[in-house]
Amino acid sequence: MAKSAEIKLAVFGRAGVGKSALVVRFLTKRFIWEYDPTLESTYRHQAVIDDESVTMEILDTAGQEEMLQREGHMRWGDGFVIVYDITDRGSFEEVLPLKSLLEEAKKPKQLTMMLVGNKADLEHARQVSTEEGERLAAELSCGFYECSACTGEGSVSEAFLELCREVRRR
Ligand code: GDP
Ligand code: MG
Repeated sequence: MAKSAEIKLAVFGRAGVGKSALVVRFLTKRFIWEYDPTLESTYRHQAVIDDESVTMEILDTAGQEEMLQREGHMRWGDGFVIVYDITDRGSFEEVLPLKSLLEEAKKPKQLTMMLVGNKADLEHARQVSTEEGERLAAELSCGFYECSACTGEGSVSEAFLELCREVRRR
């Protein structure tokens, strides 16, 4: 890929898992408690990855899109972050169907994605173990990060940057 490449990333996952909080954490290193759950936004972010300048476009989906619109988002992206909430097993169970939809939308290209288990600060309310997350990521052949948009633990940035690297390797 040429220098100053543009990389389009889209963030998917059940409503409330912390997609907006993660994107804002990555972009500003801050945590915003309340974020309009119906809002869908695209952010542009300049980063230097391995000595090369890249422009990231990040789409924070709202999860209320019509089918067609969602398919459009899936086709738009070069790489995807699928987020679940470690305190919400239902959100974990939505990962696999989401991945299948993404795969379908990207055909015949290979899907490039990261799996992120968010809200790692809420250990007392955990419903999905780290091992389960790791196992699912192995099954999906993708990277896996457990982190917290709230405290910043677990390297939120690394998940986004590593995804960029993978997109550029493809
Ligand atoms: P989205 O619907 O996936 O975009 O989720 P939001 O980013 O709007 O977050 C949903 C709720 O979870 C909000 O009340 C956030 O404050 C909260 N939240 C998001 N990330 C975390 C986290 O890492 N830890 C904790 N404790 N709460 C979080
Ligand atoms: Mg949101």
